[in-house]
Amino acid sequence: MEPKESKDKELEKKEEKLEIFIGGGIELISEEEAEKTKKFINPNATALRNLDADLFGKFKPKYYGFIQQCQLCAFGPCDLSRNRKGACGMRLNLQMSREALIISISGASSYLARASELYKYAVKKYTYFEILNLKKEETAIINLLCGYDPIMVGDLKKALRYGNEQIVHLISSTHMGQEASDFDYNSKALHAGMVSLLALEIYENLRKFLYEKEKKIYAKNEIKGNIVVIGEFVKTFSLLNLPVNIIRLGSDDVNYINSIVNYSYEILKYADVIVIGEGNVKCDIIEMAKNVGIPVFATSSRNLAGLADISNLSVDEIFNKIKNKEICGGFINNEEKLAKIILTLVEKNPKEAKNPEAAEASGVKNELIKEINISEKLEKSPIILLFGDANFSDLNKNDLNEILNNFLSKNFFVFTAGDIGFSVELKHENLINLGSKSAGVHLIENLIIKASERIGEIPVGNFDKIAEYIRNKFNIVGIFLGSTTQEDFSISNGVMRLGIPVIFGSQGIKFRREFRGDIIVDYSKDDYNGNYNEIFKTHPQKNFSFPHLCISAKTKDEIITLIPKMVIRS
Ligand code: SF4
Repeated sequence: MEPKESKDKELEKKEEKLEIFIGGGIELISEEEAEKTKKFINPNATALRNLDADLFGKFKPKYYGFIQQCQLCAFGPCDLSRNRKGACGMRLNLQMSREALIISISGASSYLARASELYKYAVKKYTYFEILNLKKEETAIINLLCGYDPIMVGDLKKALRYGNEQIVHLISSTHMGQEASDFDYNSKALHAGMVSLLALEIYENLRKFLYEKEKKIYAKNEIKGNIVVIGEFVKTFSLLNLPVNIIRLGSDDVNYINSIVNYSYEILKYADVIVIGEGNVKCDIIEMAKNVGIPVFATSSRNLAGLADISNLSVDEIFNKIKNKEICGGFINNEEKLAKIILTLVEKNPKEAKNPEAAEASGVKNELIKEINISEKLEKSPIILLFGDANFSDLNKNDLNEILNNFLSKNFFVFTAGDIGFSVELKHENLINLGSKSAGVHLIENLIIKASERIGEIPVGNFDKIAEYIRNKFNIVGIFLGSTTQEDFSISNGVMRLGIPVIFGSQGIKFRREFRGDIIVDYSKDDYNGNYNEIFKTHPQKNFSFPHLCISAKTKDEIITLIPKMVIRS
């Protein structure tokens, strides 16, 4: 990994072109230069359309219309089966691609909202001017898309604003009576995916910054209780200063000390307090918590769980209401107050205190590697990037380990990011656990930097060249095997735009769209003429020994057949 000094030297060379703003970071290219050299700075939804056309010229969409109806507006519901058109003129292929865009936007905005929330927290607590201290690789996506280098916390705002603007623009295109081609919806889905990669980078950088600021290590005998955090509570940092175990239930947020990951709701029996965030929180959590008499605090405006807003009550008032069983918890939008209430509850309720060590023993420990160095060896080796969740359906843990073992023994590198890392029970020097799902972005960042070195240009505005290099020169495939979420789908769209093909497990078919290399259709002719209706064309049986851009596979053997075909491209 290139040291900070060499990054500084590189920046010094561009000194005459640099402008330093408060809240604007270091501009790596001027507006005029970007225009003159046709660089893609803050690319809008159409800027990279030609790049997508190249990709979709080779890989054709295959849709799975399990429900062949649309009820997105009040002209509907419209029956789109048997090549029928909706009241707005939309056919099923268009509706399927619009659904793909909506799913991709949902996933991208999930990370963007988290990053924005964390940004506000960091600014409020540490001001705009606190230095981030990021390495060259850690800003690769901001450099690439937004053309600047964030130095202070406040500098992240520009990238967040860009991401938010793109999401608003993209969601507006799903309105009735817009976009008449599934190509354009698919291109926009990749655009949303690209925004999700930007959001992941910002989110990771803020988490690292806040963790460094707020970490505190307690001795075991100082731990007074257990807090179970369900879903993403992005400001968990506010709890790091409490002498408690933070148990993350079903979350892939494994990066932090005092933090244990567990997958069983049985863990609730060890909880003193339950904190719910957003995303992957069971809807019956309040019911479960009431059954075991544990207070629940909602923390996200995106998941209030029907709880009353108690943010304006004092800590004593809240404690008394809980003690007298007047309330079972509430929504608190002030993390410092939440921390005080939690401390009061674990300190004033000693007879309720659970066994911290038992909770810790039931958690999952994992070894994490955060530093990646794309050496020449790794650059030339095939890579599997295993992303996402760990709940399998058709495959099981043994299948996964067999698949990975097979390829590790053939000198593949395997990176895991997210819960799925816990299902990998192998030890190998080429097996690298990056930690949480968002940490998967660090491998992508390193690929971008390496590609930029190889093309001899800094990443700034060079999305097309970098994606082309990754697509043709790196031997990498992304795999999502578990039960996947909108976030996974969005990330998959982002990595595809960068030229990285994707294999989904059997759950992936539920996203209802693949991009396959074995479908021979003159997409450009048909689709640009506006009469392309792929869903009713007959396609040959799925060919697993063909390269694809995105495909879902059911069995271990299908995946083992697919990996070499998808990985080896140069
Ligand atoms: S968006 Fe079009 S297809 Fe969907 S319900 Fe409205 S009119 Fe029908």
